[in-house]
Order: sequence, then structure tokens, then C-alpha cells
Amino acid sequence: MSESQPAIELIGATKRYGETVALESLDLRIMPGEFFCLLGPSGCGKTTTLNLIGGFIPLTSGQLLIEGRTVHDLPPHKRNVNTVFQNYALFPHMTVAQNVAFGLRMEKLPTAEVAGRTKEYLELVGLGKYAERLPQALSGGQQQRVALARALAKRPAVLLLDEPLGALDLKLRKQMQTELARIHRQVGTTFVFVTHDQEEALSMATTIAIMSGGRVLQQGSPREVYGHPANRFVANFVGDTNFLAGTVRRDGAGAAFELAGGNTVALKGTAPDGSATLMVRPEYLKLRAPSDPSPIRGLPGRIVNIAFLGNHSRVTVATSAGDVVAVVPHGTEDPTNETQRELGEEVCVWWHAENAALIQD
Ligand code: ADP
Ligand code: MG
Repeated sequence: MSESQPAIELIGATKRYGETVALESLDLRIMPGEFFCLLGPSGCGKTTTLNLIGGFIPLTSGQLLIEGRTVHDLPPHKRNVNTVFQNYALFPHMTVAQNVAFGLRMEKLPTAEVAGRTKEYLELVGLGKYAERLPQALSGGQQQRVALARALAKRPAVLLLDEPLGALDLKLRKQMQTELARIHRQVGTTFVFVTHDQEEALSMATTIAIMSGGRVLQQGSPREVYGHPANRFVANFVGDTNFLAGTVRRDGAGAAFELAGGNTVALKGTAPDGSATLMVRPEYLKLRAPSDPSPIRGLPGRIVNIAFLGNHSRVTVATSAGDVVAVVPHGTEDPTNETQRELGEEVCVWWHAENAALIQD
């Protein structure tokens, strides 16, 4: 059985600007219909990757295939990809409908087809009633929708989006994230979306590629990269994490982890002896009274901060292995995480061994 063909494939893609290596031998496979997020800090090479795919800059070396075709010599408009820019780039003197129709008219589509698609895509983005307005009479979020309708109306195989929500305020941004996910489901086009915002990537992507220094460090579903980060950088960049330094030791049949400060906790599975870092997400840390009997070994400590955040609190506990942060949800029946904690209280921090990941560094 043959595997389906990637929408986009980058093989050993390298891009240098003079002395600067922006991308170093990048390999990426993006399958049709994905909502693919390139996630990473500023300067890691996200825009460069998008511009290579879009055809705005040439590769220094390596290969780029779009729908199985090598496209190195093709200009942007012949690549079956379209781009939504952060600044929208709408024509100010044209109405919303004229903006959407422009690219279709350039393709010399029949007049009826141009009118039909313009209406269809303005309705898709919820702007059916705004067709005759000028862009300046629209809010930032609405202008962004026009740019999206204009790009999608050409029915490209791939839509490239470079931090398109960056200029919007937080609330509008969240709304547009939900909207974009819906639009993506409705049209089924492959989206390649660039962001430095991990929450944005987690909430919309089908696949995330985490980039740093011109390389892809890990690629997987939001659940995979959050639950099983490949290294410390990914663990730190995607979500909040407690890092506990220590040493792996043999302990009867299995392995145990001796934390800095001398306490020992159980480890799931086997691991080679030696120094390592144990990583536990704050939502997996639980608190109990030091006097509570339990077969699960924990880490004694004292509560040094409680931040009330509405539906949960972030509780910081000072332990001999350093400060750790536990997220304590409110309004649950879970007796192990009762919310009436007090500053200065002595507690025992514990977690199920399967919820901790070992990073050998
Ligand atoms: P990101 O979009 O992730 O913030 P970029 O792809 O824009 O990162 O940039 C990656 C690296 O390449 C950075 O070090 C940046 O300074 C450099 N770079 C980008 N564009 C150019 C350019 N036109 N000339 C020289 N260096 C560039
Ligand atoms: Mg950028």
C-alpha cells in the first residue's frame, strides 16, 4: 500500500544569509489537510521556512517538493500555494468584494465564477454582509478575515500564514483561533501556520514542529509534544514544567531517582544509572498532609506562594530539591488536591511515576 503523498516536503533544506545560517538541513513532511504549526522563538527560522515554501526566497541547498513536484524554479504564483501576511496587505481603494475578486480576475476565471467564489468565501469567513465596504471601515479582525477569504478563494493546495493574529488583542486572538480551526475543517486545505505562541499552536494544530536555531527539534501532535517532549528545550517552550535534578539508581527490580537534597522517588520503567533531570508538569503534582500514610513516596516541603487564578491556583512549594509548582484545580471532588491550602503549610508533594519523564542530559 503506498503512503499518500506529502503536500510539502523539505529535504535537507539549508538557507544562509551571508554568514548567518537561518536554516540548517531541515527535513519536514507536511501531509495534505494538516493544520501544521511551526512553533519557536523569534529568530529560529520560521518565516524563512515559510518564505522558501512560498517561493519568495531561494534555497541555498536541499530540496523542496510541493504535491510531489520539485518547485525550485517556479515563481510564487505557479506553486499552488497562497500566503496570508500579518499586515493583511489589502488594497485600500477596493471594496472587500473587489479585494477577494482581484486574484480570481487575474487568473481570468469567468465572471460568474469570480462572483460565486467571492460570495462563497466571504460567507465562509462570516463577512457576507460587508462585501461593499472599504477595508478602512472594518476592524483589524475583520480585515484579517478578508485577507483569509482572498487567499482561500484561489483554492490553493497550501495556505501559508505567518503570525497572522499577531496584531490582534488577546480576546480577539482567541476568537480568531477558534474561527481559523473551523475554517480549516470546512475547507480542508493544508495550513502551514507560523507562531511563537505555544498556546496558539497547541489549540489549533494537528501537527506541531518545534524549531530552534534553524532546526526542527521535535514534530508531533499537540498531545505528543506536550506529553512527551523530546528534550529540555521543548519541555520548557511548550507548557510549564518542573525540572528536578538528580541521579538514577538501581532500586530492587526497577529504578529509582535520588533527588538533589536526598529524597528518593520511584521511576517508571528502566533507565541507565547516572545524573538526569526528572520532568513533571504542574497539573500532575499533588499535595497531601505530611502525616497522611501513602505507599507513594513524596517530597516534603512548605508552601511559599499561592496564586489564585480563578478556576485554579498555582501553589509553589519549597523542597530540598528546589521550588516546585503545582496547579491545583478548583471545583473538583478530588480529595488528594483539596483547595484549602495555606501559605506556610507543611505538605508532601507527590505524583504518579508514569506522569514524570526522565531527560538524560
Ligand atoms: P523567525 O521568523 O523564526 O523569527 P526568521 O526566519 O525571520 O526567524 O530569521 C531566521 C534567522 O535568519 C535570524 O537569525 C534572522 O536574523 C536571519 N535573517 C532573516 N532574514 C534575513 C535577511 N534577509 N538577511 C539576513 N539575515 C536574515
Ligand atoms: Mg518571523
